[in-house]
Amino acid sequence: MAQEDYYSVLGVDRNASDKEINSAYRKLAKKYHPDINHEPGAEEKYKKINEAYEVLHDPQKKSQYDQFGAAGVNGQAGFGGAGQGYGDFSGFGDFGDIFNDFFGGASSGQRRADPTAPTRGEDLDYTLTIDFMDSITGKKTQVSYTRSEICGTCKGSGAEKGTHPITCDKCNGTGYMTVTQKSMIGMIRRQTVCDKCNGRGIIIEHPCGTCHGNGVVDGKNTIEVNIPAGIDNGQQLRYEGQGEAGKNGGPYGDLYISYRIKPSKDFKREGNTIYTTVPISFAQATLGDEITVKTVHGEQKLKIPAGTQPNKKFTLRGEGVPYLRGNARGDQVTTVEVQIPKTINEKQRAALVDFVKAGGGSINPQEKGFFERLKEKLQ
Ligand SMILES: [Zn+2]
Ligand SMILES: [Zn+2]
Repeated sequence: MAQEDYYSVLGVDRNASDKEINSAYRKLAKKYHPDINHEPGAEEKYKKINEAYEVLHDPQKKSQYDQFGAAGVNGQAGFGGAGQGYGDFSGFGDFGDIFNDFFGGASSGQRRADPTAPTRGEDLDYTLTIDFMDSITGKKTQVSYTRSEICGTCKGSGAEKGTHPITCDKCNGTGYMTVTQKSMIGMIRRQTVCDKCNGRGIIIEHPCGTCHGNGVVDGKNTIEVNIPAGIDNGQQLRYEGQGEAGKNGGPYGDLYISYRIKPSKDFKREGNTIYTTVPISFAQATLGDEITVKTVHGEQKLKIPAGTQPNKKFTLRGEGVPYLRGNARGDQVTTVEVQIPKTINEKQRAALVDFVKAGGGSINPQEKGFFERLKEKLQ
């Protein structure tokens, strides 16, 4: 048998890209597949196509072939070699895909699940956005969403009232049938989706008017949701049985609610700790004071000791976010921001100068210009 040029076997030129080679191969492999094409010579042609593809889609073999011709890859192309039986398609790169194209995914030997067995419904995801304070205190709310539901008219059977689905006689309720086809290695048997029941295993002679034989309908589900106090951004809770309808009497799937919490302008949360800032005057920082700070649970007194430095952090125990389990709460950390007054009156100014003098120091206050004073007056 004369060695044919691999490029001309695939009908591509020597500069063809990988994509062009793959596409040419897929087209030809489909056309000449012995299960499809029963013309004389088709099998031989199919063999050659695969041999060419085995070499040209492998960069190393391709470069050897380009340099040395078939001799460069002899014994490596391997098609039809020992152990590579024709019925085993695993050696042929994209073959699985092509096979699926032909047979709708029913690969030979693949076991199919019983189509009439009860199957649990799919799970659903839902994102619930809540206010910051609701995440602290918890809240009861309602959530509505669409999902598939068991048809109330036929109770999921898909059959009109008083009738029942019958087992498909073509596939005996298995949903698939075995076909025997002639091939190069003889007869091969493979499973394919039953064309009478479309794989359902049952025939509904009188479909339910509500669900048209599907057994399920699109419905709107509303559930009461008890948002737990302390829920955090991104946390997800499962609501059993609130997902999509099951099949053949199988249970409903679950609903997963992911919580998104709107930010607060007063409070920052990290874990179960709340962070806030509070302004105090330099006099309060120097002399000490008792101030009121906001917490997520209301207000709290906070003692500012004399001599408090800017950005000092105070911890208010138990004033943070409740833990989801148990009764404990995190803390609140409040940072004081010492404010320097932008303007002071004459009396304050004189008092401050005295304050410096009383400490034995001296000070040379900078007078403000006429326009700056005017601007301040107008503010
Ligand atoms: Zn129905
Ligand atoms: Zn059938």
